[in-house]
Amino acid sequence: LDGDNVAQTIYYGLFSLQHRGQESSGISVTDTNGPSGVITCNKGKGLVNEVFNQEKLDKMRGNLGVGHVRYSEAGKSGIEFAEPLVVNYYKGTLALTHNGNIVNANELKEKLSYDGAIFQSGSDSEIVGYLLARERVKTKSVEEALLNSCKQLRGAYSLVITSPRKLIGVRDPFGFRPLCIGKRDNTYFITSETCALDTVDAEFVRDVEPGEIVIIDSEGNITSNKELAAPTPARCIFENIYFSRPDSVFDGVGVNASRIQAGKILARKFPVEADVVFGVPESGNPAGLGYAMESGIPYINGFIKNSYVGRTFIKPRQSQRETAVKIKLNPIKEAIEGKRVVIVDDSIVRGTTSLRIVNMLRAAGAKEVHVRISSPPFLHPCYFGTDIPSEDQLIAHNRSVDEICKIIGADSLAYLDEECLYEMSKGLGICTGCFNGKYPLDPPTEDIRGDYQK
Ligand code: AMP
Repeated sequence: LDGDNVAQTIYYGLFSLQHRGQESSGISVTDTNGPSGVITCNKGKGLVNEVFNQEKLDKMRGNLGVGHVRYSEAGKSGIEFAEPLVVNYYKGTLALTHNGNIVNANELKEKLSYDGAIFQSGSDSEIVGYLLARERVKTKSVEEALLNSCKQLRGAYSLVITSPRKLIGVRDPFGFRPLCIGKRDNTYFITSETCALDTVDAEFVRDVEPGEIVIIDSEGNITSNKELAAPTPARCIFENIYFSRPDSVFDGVGVNASRIQAGKILARKFPVEADVVFGVPESGNPAGLGYAMESGIPYINGFIKNSYVGRTFIKPRQSQRETAVKIKLNPIKEAIEGKRVVIVDDSIVRGTTSLRIVNMLRAAGAKEVHVRISSPPFLHPCYFGTDIPSEDQLIAHNRSVDEICKIIGADSLAYLDEECLYEMSKGLGICTGCFNGKYPLDPPTEDIRGDYQK
């Protein structure tokens, strides 16, 4: 929210959030001094720089706006899922963006459809938009309408919404996904990660708290409501492990620092005699560094990552995913040959990456390959916005660490213990459902996530 045109700033901010999603990108802007309900929105499939160019941005005039990059969850990757979602309602026009996953989306959709609602995609945002528009007719303020809408939602939702005159941020009662507020002169920002604030030269003001609704008007007045907060938050620990950018700070915990700490814990609990240590770029690097710092084993550049390849999960099929590992990473032979190597990665899902990596390192002449993982084994799916497949596809499901070690062909394998996650998150309330099946909310009875990418 700014006195000036915001599209370009949102574009730069989105650029720094590209790691959060590569499926589609979008920006919408409106003018708080103009007619209420005029929104310019551009969105499309692809990365931020594929969807936008200078000409498009120049045409987007307005001092209030919102942008989004979409993380593909299988079965929900069509263009109709691209955000911001623009909805017209009796007070004007809203633009909505959502990070997370609403677990009672199907129930709500069915209920609302019986009431006459028509859904285009039935995306979570569309459901939120519909609820909000309906509640707004019955209530005095957008805040009240939001409260009534959110009370009907179950699941993970960090929302950034622009109403005709206001910038709104909402974090679900458990605070699964991050959300924070920033400021640059008279301009306010609400964004998923602090790294986006750094990019646009904004100062971090504070996190939006779990269960908080924040509304900022064009004079810069901020109102806050925390009525929705759950007694104990359940922040997604996978944000610290993998998802967030290391230069971001999530609810006061530096992501880079928490990864380094996980590496240090691994070195203390699962030491090994080795000559060199390195991370699997890029998400394994800080934990690799932590392992080296604690063990005293030299940290080296063992892999070169092709910077033009995105996160491997983008490739939809298993066959493509395997080639993607090769295209993405190449070991530096001279640094590895004849050495006992410790390699640190953030997680093992199906085991594709680890198997390939161990093979590549052996082919490059490594004498021994020891794998350390800076998270516990994935045993259960995630229903709250991380694309983790169903149990039968998880290599750790029904297998011991020794069995996994044999499958990936490593000399030794160790995972971070579950209780260490609390150290990693400085004792904050976290969700560890994907590791132990204990979800803060009952998971849906039917799998809402569609078929996982095979
Ligand atoms: P896999 O090859 O299936 O075992 O996947 C493990 C690799 O994927 C690790 O190197 C992680 O960095 C990365 N990864 C783990 N979880 C996810 C996720 N939900 N989305 C995208 N990438 C992930």
